[in-house]
Amino acid sequence: GRASVALSAAAALTLVGACGGGGSGDDDGNPTVGVLLPGGGASRFGQFDGPLIEKKLKELCPDCPATFDATSDPAVQRQQLESMITRGVDVLIIAAVDPQLLRPAVEDAHRAGIPVVAYDRLAQGPISGYVTFDGAKVGKLQAEALLQAMGAKARGGQIVMMNGATPDPNAGWFKRGALSVLKGKVKIGKSYDTVGWRPENAFVNMRGAIAALGAGNIDGVLAANDSLAGAVVSALNATEVRPLPPITGQDADLAAVQRIVRGDQYMTVYKPFKPATDAAVEMAVALGRGNSVASIATGTVDNASTKDIPAVLLPSVSVTVGNIKDTVVKDGMYTVDQICTPQ
Ligand code: BGC
Repeated sequence: GRASVALSAAAALTLVGACGGGGSGDDDGNPTVGVLLPGGGASRFGQFDGPLIEKKLKELCPDCPATFDATSDPAVQRQQLESMITRGVDVLIIAAVDPQLLRPAVEDAHRAGIPVVAYDRLAQGPISGYVTFDGAKVGKLQAEALLQAMGAKARGGQIVMMNGATPDPNAGWFKRGALSVLKGKVKIGKSYDTVGWRPENAFVNMRGAIAALGAGNIDGVLAANDSLAGAVVSALNATEVRPLPPITGQDADLAAVQRIVRGDQYMTVYKPFKPATDAAVEMAVALGRGNSVASIATGTVDNASTKDIPAVLLPSVSVTVGNIKDTVVKDGMYTVDQICTPQ
């Protein structure tokens, strides 16, 4: 609704097209939404967040054109963002691979008048809204469950920390949350930051930890997510030590839920993705129509350049063998059959 009163909507649209488009809000109330996500189809973003964003957008604004891109390469994501700016999207939803490296492109979007909603990972640069799960809470849930599973070793036992990738601000947020619970209770024998959240990297690091500490002296592993947990389990399975020590995770990946049932992983953190994707789409459509997101936000956050970014911070849930049915099954993420059918 931002077309000048002197122009008909159609004429205004033509003008927007002729000028290379983008940025000024949408003239027919159907903004074009660009969505940039990390990782390939196997990640939670490709498997759950992406399809849920698409579905919500169809419900909320059936005539809003949408365009999606995904990559795990920060340089490629920057190109994807630049090309969305060129194509003239009206608003962006972005989960950054590397927020620092993406910042110049976010600034370009801002200059082109295209508002950005940061999704899951806090983007750097001028952003208009942020939707995520409380990362400190995720780390605390992991650490609390780990201590609980460690029993007598929860005082004075030794653990390994397999953290996320440093360019992802969530990795530090999870780690700080976990450390706030673990501090002074257990010994952290080894702590690794992973490259790009890559399980291959976690596998190599876990072999290093086993070689340095001895598998029998590892009383628990704080793995930041389920793909890292899978690598930790593989590395520990190659040793003689049984049962495996308790291992944490995050995302409720199907393989992780199956490991929990088998007893190879103690817990995962389930993030109900739907409320998050719903809020991100609501923010994007509001911004694309030139409206405020204040009524959607539940609080504010700051990044390095922008203060008081309207934000939604959602809670997540600790899942162990006892509450799989009441969480991921009840919410329709997986059926019991899927969980019970080995991959
Ligand atoms: C997300 C996690 C995910 C990780 C790796 C983080 O930013 O919050 O849910 O496991 O990235 O993709």
